[in-house]
Amino acid sequence: MNIHEYQAKALLREAGVAVPRGQAAFSPDEAVKAAQALGGPVWVVKAQIHAGGRGKAGGVKVVKSIDDVKKEAERLIGATLVTHQTGPQGKEVRRLLIEEGAAIAREIYFSLLVDRESSRVAVVASTEGGMDIEKVAHDTPEKIISFSIDPATNICPFHVRLLSKALKLEDKQHKQMGPLLTKLYKAFTEKDMSLLEVNPLIVTKDGDLVCLDAKVSFDSNALYRHPELMELRDLTEEDDKEIEASKYDLNYISLEGSIGCMVNGAGLAMATMDIIKLYGAAPANFLDVGGSATKDKVASAFKIITSDPSVKGILVNIFGGIMKCDVIAEGVVAAVKEVGLKVPLVVRLEGTNVELGKEIIAKSGLNVISADDLDDAAQKIVKAVKEAA
Ligand code: ADP
Ligand code: MG
Repeated sequence: MNIHEYQAKALLREAGVAVPRGQAAFSPDEAVKAAQALGGPVWVVKAQIHAGGRGKAGGVKVVKSIDDVKKEAERLIGATLVTHQTGPQGKEVRRLLIEEGAAIAREIYFSLLVDRESSRVAVVASTEGGMDIEKVAHDTPEKIISFSIDPATNICPFHVRLLSKALKLEDKQHKQMGPLLTKLYKAFTEKDMSLLEVNPLIVTKDGDLVCLDAKVSFDSNALYRHPELMELRDLTEEDDKEIEASKYDLNYISLEGSIGCMVNGAGLAMATMDIIKLYGAAPANFLDVGGSATKDKVASAFKIITSDPSVKGILVNIFGGIMKCDVIAEGVVAAVKEVGLKVPLVVRLEGTNVELGKEIIAKSGLNVISADDLDDAAQKIVKAVKEAA
């Protein structure tokens, strides 16, 4: 789960980390009020979307009057920002952060993330912070340093020395780096974050370290431990179909292709997506209905797939184990009865209660193309979609 910059900064502030003063605003009027409360003389109007790269896309503006705060707020609220992280369709701006302007001497890149290779939290940092970090990573990767933290000892003085040296910090900032690193690491682990990116972490003209941007993602599997964080979820930033799927505890991810997939088991789902690609089409989604889905859950999953206008054909691929083929068949038939079926449907069932499942589908009168194995199923759905086009 991702949150907005202003929410991430509130968490950091709570953790005792230096961030600029600021307030969220949902309208130009609120933006003006926030700017008045902050008092100037320099304000920054920042679009709040779940994507980085806002600065380059015109989503971060430094202004010197309340009039300009208002102008920028009017321009941004309701506008669609296209950044290198939003994809070509962009994201609509519904919230702003109005913040005090900082006097920047230097911009540093700093992040904490879960490094799967070492199974530890890794620190990634660079002197070349700011809006071109992707270019730095590509052209001069040696300017980025990285090390992981041993969970048995947590942050140690040598980590701080390592960072301060690599980031060319002066004595004043080195003294601040110890507590800063400790607090960020503590927030990261206590809140079960999967990413905490501060880009830029600045050295101010007074020589202080301040977190000027903050991007935070949480490990969704740990959210049950943090009910307070669930309140930070912004559903307008998420895919409607994924929200619907999360209500039924389905593992669903929207993709760009045209073939809707209903599969049980993540491994089989991956294999199904691969084989669809092999035969020249692309999956419209990843969907794992899970090991013990009920008829209702299967029906909801099927409805989510059919509600997607880019789905031109559906492939149901079930290997019945704990999940029984007849339950899947009943769910599919119930969903089609309710919402109809306008695209070709290929069903491949195998395993527990397969005969019963096939019988339910045969008796339903549904226009189903049946398939014997994975290979056959993939070829049939790709062919059916091509013919229907
Ligand atoms: P993004 O990463 O989405 O582009 P940032 O919050 O990093 O957005 O802002 C982009 C740039 O705008 C920063 O690198 C910094 O130079 C400038 N900036 C952001 N916030 C402030 C601020 N409060 N005061 C002064 N400059 C800022
Ligand atoms: Mg940034």
